[in-house]
Amino acid sequence: MGNSKYLDSLSIDEKKALSQKLWSIQNHKCFICGGDMDLDVQKTNIDHIRPLTNGGKDDPCNFGLTHEHCNKSKKDADLQVAKKLFQLSEIIQSATEKNETPSLKHVLLANGGSKYKFKYKIEGSTITYSFDDIGDTHLYSSDIFNDTLSGEKTAFIKVPLAYLYHDDVINPRGINSSISLLIKEFYKPNPQLHLSLGRIYDDKILIFDGQHKAVAQIILGVKELVLRLFINPDIERLIETNTNAGSKLKQIAFDKAIVRQLHDTLYTERLRKYQTDHNLSSDDFSFSEQQVVDYFKGERGNIRTYIINSQKNSITRSQDNKLQSYINFEGRGNKYPLSYSTFEKTLLSAFINTKTILKSPINHKIDEGLNPRMMERDQLIRLCNLLAEKILIDKYDPEIGTYRIENTIASGSGNDIPDDHLVAYRLFKEEIMYNWVQYLKLVISVCFLSKKSTEPPQTLPFTPQIWYNKCKENM
Ligand SMILES: [Zn+2]
Repeated sequence: MGNSKYLDSLSIDEKKALSQKLWSIQNHKCFICGGDMDLDVQKTNIDHIRPLTNGGKDDPCNFGLTHEHCNKSKKDADLQVAKKLFQLSEIIQSATEKNETPSLKHVLLANGGSKYKFKYKIEGSTITYSFDDIGDTHLYSSDIFNDTLSGEKTAFIKVPLAYLYHDDVINPRGINSSISLLIKEFYKPNPQLHLSLGRIYDDKILIFDGQHKAVAQIILGVKELVLRLFINPDIERLIETNTNAGSKLKQIAFDKAIVRQLHDTLYTERLRKYQTDHNLSSDDFSFSEQQVVDYFKGERGNIRTYIINSQKNSITRSQDNKLQSYINFEGRGNKYPLSYSTFEKTLLSAFINTKTILKSPINHKIDEGLNPRMMERDQLIRLCNLLAEKILIDKYDPEIGTYRIENTIASGSGNDIPDDHLVAYRLFKEEIMYNWVQYLKLVISVCFLSKKSTEPPQTLPFTPQIWYNKCKENM
């Protein structure tokens, strides 16, 4: 977990007592996975439910107790979100085990959905309906609107999950990895901008568009969804419309997420200006980084820098980045092993090519989770987390810090500095890190990228022929 002055101030016995207290508050269950926890035979962690970086308090009311494993493999720094993402991953896993494509269908079934037929009648321009199978005796009615051009009839209605089904005819695709971004968006909580679309078929309400929005909300505990319901629609036309425009509708919530992840205000301002000058809506990111660079020609150099900095910033400052809590952001401190300047000059510089400005649209393949900037960001955060887990977490001790460590050792009084701490300290010194990051890059590129290349890159400080051959043997 991150740094807690409160926890650090406790004695071992006090910490035990706190674990015990949280354990009984949580009915002996892990905060993240909800599974049984035994304090005698399992390793557990106390963690902030809402992270400090996100305004959470360093106080017992903001502590949760988790299995150590669950905490280490959590998918978000916020434990509430981590818990939701865990639940979703369980649903996805059980669908995958049955050789099915995980979709809204599975999320509905796991949350009391898809049980009943829809009972309704249509009189004039009114639809009257009830949800009495779930004990709701209210008689509902909604206006029916005629779409002026297509003549399609629709009504806006709020439907309990028990009456909702996934439409795998019009929307056979499953959910993809971008769903976790949407869950985080709704958790903030940012509102849903576009309604999911449903149709009545065989007296059931099927959701054929807005699957991800529906899933994200259900995972966050929403029990009923507002839909635009098509009544007796022309199916062929819906399928065609969904294929053409559906992906665009779906992108809008993600595009908001892009903007928020950009962080860099300078770049965001230029994007806004580009949209305004081209009569594009603020949701429209169908243009490329290269087009933005070309458009602001006079300040070309700056725009390139904004784009790259924005990307670096979003990686460094991501709540999911576990390395973040070991970085000194302000000058030279003695508590954390890695200075921001070193982080940028080594890891970020090695893996983010400052010359690469993309020609694909900024929202390219975003609803498939294959957006290049998002993938770059996700993969680098994964790499940061790997380094944090292997070298720092539970190994590096901020209380010992970095102050005059080598002198202490040279003077013979450094016997109580644990080896793990010393290893972590030394690995993150700039001149050392610079070198191993080059090897890391080589290993990654040989093993994952350039399977066909026969020559090692020539830009390394040494010719790492041995490493290179080792990697080749393992391919
Ligand atoms: Zn657990």
